[in-house]
Amino acid sequence: MPFHNFKHGVGVMHVSFYLIACTDAGMCLNAIQAFALIVSALCHDIDHPGHTNAFEVNSMSDLALFYNDNAVLENHHCATASILLKRQECNILVGLTKEEFKELRSVMCSAILATDMSSHFTLLTKFREAVHSNGGWNPEQSSDKLLLLSILLHAADLSNPTRNWEHSRIWASLVSQEFNAQVRNEKALELPFLPFMETLDEEAQAKQETSFIEFIIEPMWKDVVEFLPQLQFIHDYISTNKSNWKAISRRSTPRDSAQSTPHASAKSLALRSTRGSTSPISTSGSKQGSSGGEMRSRELDDDDLSFASGEQDLAGMCVRSHLCARSSGSQR
Ligand SMILES: [Zn+2]
Repeated sequence: MPFHNFKHGVGVMHVSFYLIACTDAGMCLNAIQAFALIVSALCHDIDHPGHTNAFEVNSMSDLALFYNDNAVLENHHCATASILLKRQECNILVGLTKEEFKELRSVMCSAILATDMSSHFTLLTKFREAVHSNGGWNPEQSSDKLLLLSILLHAADLSNPTRNWEHSRIWASLVSQEFNAQVRNEKALELPFLPFMETLDEEAQAKQETSFIEFIIEPMWKDVVEFLPQLQFIHDYISTNKSNWKAISRRSTPRDSAQSTPHASAKSLALRSTRGSTSPISTSGSKQGSSGGEMRSRELDDDDLSFASGEQDLAGMCVRSHLCARSSGSQR
């Protein structure tokens, strides 16, 4: 898969680690809950077929039939991870007590199932209500803790627009490739498809990314940063990325592409979450990271694509994690 592969799992796992190592979130979790989040992050898209839930349901795939059309992929990821972890050679949970195992599994099931983008707005509303309720967020209450863990994994899953421009742009292109491939399949099979998922050029992709950031990313991360103020810097990355996508989209001449969004509904955009695809990987962008700068067109090269390993980003994040740990001391 261009996007939903092991590298995406590692990227989400690393951001999850960052969120609990460098913010107050980590102080609310015990060791099992923190470990459960890391395992869930790595496994949250395991054995992903490169299609959305809608494709699985509309094509009446075996998975859709098995899970009765309900959060098909998320159920599959969670079940596959659980079966793998049961294998003797993979069982990293073998040292846990029964109670610890039960707690880990509870976190894993609820957090992975909450990555279903059709739950995005419900999850966000619950989080807002918990944080702003009279008693405030209660770290001792198990439902609030599960909610926090679900939000952390969901935010990590949707963290690509919060990376520096160069990396964010590449992940966006990989999502587009996967989306476009799905639309091609849907057309070939005469299945319904979402026009916004088809981005025939970079300008269309830029419009889709701009809308995705405005309707999904900015509102969600605003709430997360409000709760975890140590993440304030993320707003700058999101803002720079949005400006850069807007600059690319402005280069386009008006075309009759209802698909290339700004017009797509927030709910349609929610469906893209981490599932998508497109055009020839031709893109434009600055090599100057998050500071934005002059835009120029160029082809993605192998170095760019190898980035998807997350190595460059991981390096940057590790440095920041290290500095954070040094400045704030041990949080757990
Ligand atoms: Zn994902």
